[in-house]
Amino acid sequence: MLEISNLHAEVEGKPILKGLTLTVGAGEIHAIMGPNGAGKSTLSYVLAGRAGYEVTGGSVTFMGADLLAMAPHERAAAGVFLGMQYPVEIPGVSNLLFLRTALNAQRTARGEPEASGAEFMKLAKAAAEQLGLPYEMMKRSVNQGFSGGEKKRNEMVQMRVLSPRLAVLDETDSGLDIDALRVVSDGINAMRAPDRATLLITHYQRLLDYVVPDHIHVLMDGRIVHSGGADLAHKLEAEGYSAIAA
Ligand code: ADP
Ligand code: MG
Repeated sequence: MLEISNLHAEVEGKPILKGLTLTVGAGEIHAIMGPNGAGKSTLSYVLAGRAGYEVTGGSVTFMGADLLAMAPHERAAAGVFLGMQYPVEIPGVSNLLFLRTALNAQRTARGEPEASGAEFMKLAKAAAEQLGLPYEMMKRSVNQGFSGGEKKRNEMVQMRVLSPRLAVLDETDSGLDIDALRVVSDGINAMRAPDRATLLITHYQRLLDYVVPDHIHVLMDGRIVHSGGADLAHKLEAEGYSAIAA
C-alpha cells in the first residue's frame, strides 16, 4: 500500500531524512519509534505534503501512485490522513463545518456524492461518542481552548469521519491520561481493516500495549536502523534506542 524508498528530505536546508526505506502492506499497523529529533514528525509531514519540507531524493508510492507528485489535498482525497503531534487551532471555524467541508471535498474529488446534512450529523455524532468527546465540542472552533487530550481525541474523531486508507498518527498518545489512551487505542483498533494501513509514530511503548502493531521500526538520524515485531517495544523501553541500534 505504501512504499517509501531511500527518502531524503530537508527542512530549511538541513537534511533530516537521510535514506529512509519502509514498506507498509494493506491491513497492517506499523509503529515507528525513535528519540526526539530523529525525524519522525518530518516523515509524517513529508507524507502529508506540508510546505517547507523539501524532498531531495527517493520515492513514495501510495496505492500504486506517486504520492510526492500529488498536492496535499489530492493526497487527502486519495485517503492519506495525518493525525498531528501538535493539532492546530482554527479560531472562527466550527469543528463540524471544518469536518463536513473536508469530508465532502474528499468525496467530490473521488467522484462520490457529498454527505447530506443528516448523514454527516450521524457520522460526526457516532465518532464523537466513540471517542468520548462531548458533542458540544463539535460546535466549537476547531481545537480552540481544547485541552491536549481533547485535541488528540478530536484528531481521532476526524480520522473516524474521514475514514482514510492510510492513517499517519504522530504521537497521538502523548498527553493522554490512561483512560483517554484506552479510548483512543480502541478508536485506532476499530479502524483496522484489510484495505487500510496505519503508521503509528510514538516514543512510548505504552500505546503499543493497546494497539499491537504488526511491525515496529526504530527511526534514528533520518533512517530506519532496526525493525522487529511487537515484542521490540518492551525491549526498547528496557534497553533504550542506542543499544538496539548499535
Ligand atoms: P521527531 O518528531 O522525531 O522528534 P522532527 O521530525 O520533529 O523529529 O525533527 C527532526 C529534526 O528536524 C530536529 O533536529 C528538528 O529540530 C528539525 N526540524 C524540524 N522541523 C523544523 C523546522 N521547521 N525548522 C528547522 N528545523 C526543523
Ligand atoms: Mg515529533
